[in-house]
Amino acid sequence: MNRIYFDHSATTPTSEEVVKEMLPFFTDIYGNGSSQHSHGREAGKYIDIARRQVADAIGAKPGEIYFTSGGTESDNWAIRGVLSGYKAKGKHIITTCIEHPAMIKTLESLQKNGLAEVTFLGVDSEGFICLEELKNAIRPDTILISVMTANNEIGTIQDIKEIGAIAKANNIIFHTDAVQAIGNVKIDVKEMNIDLLSMSAHKFYGPKGIGVLYRRNGIKLSSYMTGGEQERNMRAGTLNTPAIVGMGKAIEIATRDIDKNNKYVSELRDYFVAQVESKIDNVYYNGTKSNKRLASNANFSFEFIEGESLLLRLDLAGISVSSGSACSSGSLEPSYVLLATGRAIELAHGSLRFSFGKNNTKQEIDYCVQNLVKIVQDLRELSPLFLIKKGENKYV
Ligand SMILES: *Cc1c(COP(=O)(O)O)cnc(C)c1O
Repeated sequence: MNRIYFDHSATTPTSEEVVKEMLPFFTDIYGNGSSQHSHGREAGKYIDIARRQVADAIGAKPGEIYFTSGGTESDNWAIRGVLSGYKAKGKHIITTCIEHPAMIKTLESLQKNGLAEVTFLGVDSEGFICLEELKNAIRPDTILISVMTANNEIGTIQDIKEIGAIAKANNIIFHTDAVQAIGNVKIDVKEMNIDLLSMSAHKFYGPKGIGVLYRRNGIKLSSYMTGGEQERNMRAGTLNTPAIVGMGKAIEIATRDIDKNNKYVSELRDYFVAQVESKIDNVYYNGTKSNKRLASNANFSFEFIEGESLLLRLDLAGISVSSGSACSSGSLEPSYVLLATGRAIELAHGSLRFSFGKNNTKQEIDYCVQNLVKIVQDLRELSPLFLIKKGENKYV
């Protein structure tokens, strides 16, 4: 049996259609998109097309799209760019405690160096922020509200339109890390009052190392990378034409197929969740079961088990999943996202994220559940806590 990939929130395979679109830009149309001669203008033409494809997908104008190296850079640029663009007004930023490390680590570092003051909003047991709390956190020197559209560990989707309206009513810039959302959640930046938005192609079947920061016209954002005059003098560096073309194609496909894919993937997810909950005891679903969640995501805590052990055993069985977020795996810290939802440390330690994609099948889910049931039982037989609970620990 082929290996099974249930980690689409970490990254997705680049679809063949996208790769095919990219290939000529390595060899035939290789000009520097900023050059004035024909070779350059030819490449530039396709960069313009991709820029429009991205803009169309989120209801923006092409001139509001800036290509970056990915979600991490876009998040960094949004924060740092607003801090220097709105220096005169203040340095207070409101965000949530479940943002991606690209946001959290950046903000913590700025705060430590005295360059920003940050309010990290908590979340409820399903991962939602409280809008009243958000309103109460606003100060005269608040320059930025940044709330992720969809969470990468538990899939919870925030009420972005409402949050955008609150920011707008208070004359504060609103940024959203939509890296998990693009291709899964319909986004219209105008309707949702979004001023800045981060996205990354490799999360929606595009290539790695390419992303976008959307900036609403008029938002004061300082340039991030200095050097050449690319991206209207805002982000220096030769444009990565193949990746940009691939990103344009990928977002066009993702937007076109969004309903079809969400239906297919959420049916797989629901089937998986039902199987796990009926066949394994002492499992806890993390996140929300309302429709305000990503179709692809299922995160469970398995009591009496270490997520890492479970991950490694599943890997041996040919199944790739994630414990916590990929970025923090290898560390022994339990997921800060699950802790924020109020999960006890032991349950946070025993969590796994399964994230499904459009190429997965029901057969793969069946195979996974079969193995999961067996492995969970094996690991629990080795767990002193489990045996104590069952009254079978001969060492007590
Ligand atoms: C993956 C991810 C990022 C980082 O994007 P890269 O392109 O890998 O740098 C940022 N935020 C969220 C929510 C993500 O899921």
